[in-house]
This record gives sequence, structure tokens and C-alpha cells, in this order.
Amino acid sequence: MRKIVIVGGGYAGFYTAWGLEKRLRRGEAEVIVVDPAPYMTYQPFLPEVAAGSIEARHAIVPLHRHLRRTRIVSGRATAIDHAARTVRVELPDGSMADLSYDEVVVTAGAVTRVFPVPGIAEKAIGLKRIEEAVAVRDAVLTAFDEAVSLRRGPERQRRLTVVFIGGGFAGVEGFGELLSLATALSKYHPDLSRDELAFHLVDASDHILPEVTPPARVWVERHLQSRGAIVHLNTTVTSVVDGRVELSNGVSIDAGLVVWTAGIAANPVVSRHTDLPTDERGLVIVRPDLRVGTEDEPIDHAWAAGDDAAVPDLASGAGAYTIPNAQHAVRQGKRLAKNLAAVIRGRTPKAYRHRSLGTIATLGIGHGIFQSGPITIKGLPAWIIHRGYHVLAVPTWERKTRVSLGWLGALFLGRDIASLASVQRPRDAFRDDATSRRAA
Ligand SMILES: Cc1cc2nc3c(=O)[nH]c(=O)nc-3n(C[C@H](O)[C@H](O)[C@H](O)COP(=O)(O)OP(=O)(O)OC[C@H]3O[C@@H](n4cnc5c(N)ncnc54)[C@H](O)[C@@H]3O)c2cc1C
Repeated sequence: MRKIVIVGGGYAGFYTAWGLEKRLRRGEAEVIVVDPAPYMTYQPFLPEVAAGSIEARHAIVPLHRHLRRTRIVSGRATAIDHAARTVRVELPDGSMADLSYDEVVVTAGAVTRVFPVPGIAEKAIGLKRIEEAVAVRDAVLTAFDEAVSLRRGPERQRRLTVVFIGGGFAGVEGFGELLSLATALSKYHPDLSRDELAFHLVDASDHILPEVTPPARVWVERHLQSRGAIVHLNTTVTSVVDGRVELSNGVSIDAGLVVWTAGIAANPVVSRHTDLPTDERGLVIVRPDLRVGTEDEPIDHAWAAGDDAAVPDLASGAGAYTIPNAQHAVRQGKRLAKNLAAVIRGRTPKAYRHRSLGTIATLGIGHGIFQSGPITIKGLPAWIIHRGYHVLAVPTWERKTRVSLGWLGALFLGRDIASLASVQRPRDAFRDDATSRRAA
């Protein structure tokens, strides 16, 4: 039986495995997904998880439940040796294993791009993983809970200060959602005044949200400012040592929370640890049908899709590549499954072609922006489209139902504002009890 190893069970990998399960007959091939996480993360929901509008577990799709005919290997691929047809995997106990394959599918996605700013690794947090979204949510909720018990002054102000670095899609959505959460929280904390909240969004370029047209960007910027945000454009962060954010425009901010959303970079397993061909950005070079290589130098039995692949964008014209987003990753995963099944059966694969449906971003409850071609929709209607689109897009009816019921509950009951920050130190209470008993 042929062995297909899929490296990464995120968007593209999950849809490839799901598609293969539907297409392949029993005994035709064994499908294996390698991923350190036992779930696919629906990343567009992370800003809403951070804002407490979606329960964290509903924003992820458990692989064991939804890929019933696929073998899931919990582990991190450290190298892909296509000449030897093996993927080297670090297993949960730290041991290494070599998985042999007949076909490899590389869908390991991207990693957060971090610049060497002093203090950034120690003090900031990203917004690309579910645990980061949960930690951001708890940090804001805890900051409010604690700030009310402190006297007005620098320490209270620091806890109520949030800085987002990077005004792209993920940054603006996360920022808008947290601003919305903070505004909602002020209702429960009448002792805190609105002017004590400080939300800063920093971007190195002269605009935020490059995915939309210049007038729409300006609208988003003004909209956030009208809700109390401070936007620093043409500004870089020079230091975050001890939580003091120093900006190139001379501003210095003592922040309780620093969120880094300044873009993505190639996954090291693809850019550095494989003999598959990569481009100057470190992405796997693929043909329009998602097989690795070029028409002149094809590489057999290797496929790639999603954020880790340079996929020709046939809908945009010669020389263009698809942009790294979920819209493409999902469709590429589906196309890859069809093409791989076709090749196994001796048929010809088809080229991937998708014209972008547009851009839709949440800016917090009741606020959003949608743009498709000449059409721009702002405010509440855009936010409704955002929710409608994403609840349809999240895979499986089981997840759609959980997310919708959560939203429905919140509509009547409001946001759940309990912080579970202590979950990050679950043994503290037990350890204290054990040591005090021993001391007694
Ligand atoms: C906050 C946020 C909001 C977003 N909102 C939108 C949106 O509204 N619309 C949109 O179109 N896009 C959005 N995106 C982008 C979109 O989520 C990504 O483009 C998409 O997830 C890419 O899919 P992928 O399969 O290539 O990678 P991923 O979904 O990132 O999956 C990669 C998988 O590979 C695994 N992996 C990584 N390294 C290894 C390894 N060494 N070995 C094994 N497995 C590995 C990871 O654990 C992960 O499961 C958003 C992204 C973020 C962060």
C-alpha cells in the first residue's frame, strides 16, 4: 500500500487529508499526518478567542475526531530528505524516528517573523497559536481585575496599557477585538476611567491593513482612533526591555501587554532542512498543479501547499504567487487531495486557480470592514458578513454548531469575563499545601 506523509495538519494539511479520506478507496493508500499539535487551528478565530467571544476549544479542530481514516503522528518534522524518501520526526518523548513515504505533502505553514529587538523574546507574545490567544485574553482580564485594586498611578496605568506591534491583518483584527473587550470590561469596573486605558498600534510603514485599498485603510485607522486607539505609523520598536516599549518616534510606553504581529516567515523545516527546492523567501517551489519543482525541473512524489509554498497565482497573471492566507490554503489543500488521488490512479492533475473573494476583517464586536473589487462595506454590516463567512468556513458541522451556539449565548448573556490565567500555574496551590504541611 502506498504511504502518503503529510507534514503539518493545519489548514492545507487538514484539507488534504480530509479530501484524501473522501477520495481514496480502502487499501489504496495509507495517509499519515505529522504535527506536534493534535488539532488544526482555525487562525481567523484567534482574535475573537483573545477577546473572549469564542471559546478557545471551539476554534480548533481535533484531528483524531475528524480524520478517522488517517494515522496521526504527534511529533515535529525536523527534516525532509526527499532523496531518501523519509521525514525525520521528533516524537513527544524526545526520541527521533524516520518515517518513510511514497508521496510527501509539505504543509507546515509559516512561523512568526520576529526581529532582533532587545527584550522582545522575553516580554512580547505572538497571536498565531491558540495558547497565545488564550494567554492574551487572560492577560487583559487579569490586568483589569488587578488594576481596580491598585491606587491610581503608574503601576495601574501600566497594567491597562496594551501595545500591538504590526498593523497587518492579524494585528489589526487582534487589536480591534481587544479594544472591544477592554471597552466592554470598563462597564464592570466603574472605578476605572476610560482615559486610563491606553491602546497603541505600531507599524513601520505609512499605513495599516495593506490588504485593503488606501481609502479603506484610512477609514480603519480613523475608526480605531475614534474608539480611543493611538496609531503610530512610520514607527519602529527599538526596545521592549522590562516591558518599556521604546519607539523610533521618541515615545516611550510602559506596557502591561505587548503583542507582536509583525508578519510571518518561512518555516525552518522547509527553508533549512530539506533537499526540496526552495525560493529566496524559503518557500517550497511548486508547479501550478501543486507538485514540487518547475516544469523544467519537476520533482516527483512531492507536493506542497499553503503558507510554506510558492504557488503560482494563475488568476493574477504571470510571475505572481498566491498570498499566504486561509482562502488559498483551504482551496489548495482540496485541489492537492484531488490531484494526488488522480496521479495515483494514472490521471492528469489540474492546475490550482482561485480568484480572491476579497478581504474581510473584524475590528471588534459590531465593527468590521469588507472589501471585494469595487465594493467596500464598513461597520456593523461588514462585521455580520465576517461572522457569517467564518462560521460557514470553519471545517465540520460540529465546530460550526459549537461556535454559533457560543455566539448565540453571548448575545443574550454577554461575554464571559473570567480570567483563567492561573491555569498557567496549575500546581501552585497544591505545592503550597504540600510544603506548608511538611513544614508543620
Ligand atoms: C490571527 C490570524 C488571523 C487570520 N485571519 C485570516 C483571515 O481572516 N482570512 C484568511 O484568509 N487568512 C487569515 N489568516 C491566515 C491563515 O490563517 C493562514 O494563511 C493559514 O492558516 C495557512 O494555512 P497553512 O496550512 O499553510 O498553515 P497553518 O494553518 O499554520 O498550519 C501549519 C501546521 O503545520 C504544523 N507544523 C509546523 N511546523 C511543523 C513541523 N516542523 N512538523 C510538523 N508540523 C508542523 C503546525 O502545527 C500547523 O498545524 C490569519 C492568521 C492569523 C495568525
